[in-house]
Amino acid sequence: MNIILLGAPGAGKGTQGNILSEKFRIPQISTGDILRANVRSKTQLGLKAKEYMDKGALVPDDIVVGMVVDRINEEDAKSGFILDGFPRNINQAEVLEKTLTSMGKSIGSVIGIEVDRKELVRRLSGRRVCRKCGASYHTIFNPPLNIGMCDKCGSEIYQRDDDKEETIEARLKVYEQETFPLVEYYSRKGLYRAVDGKGSVDQITMTIVGAIEGSDNPKVS
Ligand code: AMP
Repeated sequence: MNIILLGAPGAGKGTQGNILSEKFRIPQISTGDILRANVRSKTQLGLKAKEYMDKGALVPDDIVVGMVVDRINEEDAKSGFILDGFPRNINQAEVLEKTLTSMGKSIGSVIGIEVDRKELVRRLSGRRVCRKCGASYHTIFNPPLNIGMCDKCGSEIYQRDDDKEETIEARLKVYEQETFPLVEYYSRKGLYRAVDGKGSVDQITMTIVGAIEGSDNPKVS
């Protein structure tokens, strides 16, 4: 069960990836999360990546691809994985395919979570995340019970630097120019399944599970 979650920043890949990871008991591999962890611990990779992330640009492929290949090779990813935020351009998709082929694996489905631009901006500009566990909130639609504090682990909630208004536009532009062509790329391979990303989190999960299992009536456990 090797799944790719595709979609613009703010589409809900992280939220759905987290739920699907628990449901299918396979790891969620989020390149954004791995990069942010490196930025936090000030590794060489993190320091280099930060320059790009702060601008809303893509981190160079050689950095990101190596990171993903290492992660896919780990023991817990043997029976499947959910890629969230990778691939983000055609080159990454091609390298991923070659790597998986050399491992005797392949992509099972590519789920495209589709949300219109206005809604994406609304979600991203109000998004707040927990510094420790990564739980996601929204200032208006899903505020934490206590201001500034995570409901799940009690840690501090903050606004990602790249969720500030000036960077949001840059990220959406990068998505449209570099990542969106993957919709056609995976459609041609017969792997792309579009899912409406507006609605309740549970409803969207149901639709995604249905698309993954290839049925309109998914059995959600
Ligand atoms: P995300 O958390 O997925 O929105 O990613 C945050 C930032 O990390 C992006 O704006 C990029 O700068 C960087 N990033 C994440 N995934 C990738 C990727 N696959 N390729 C290049 N840069 C990435």
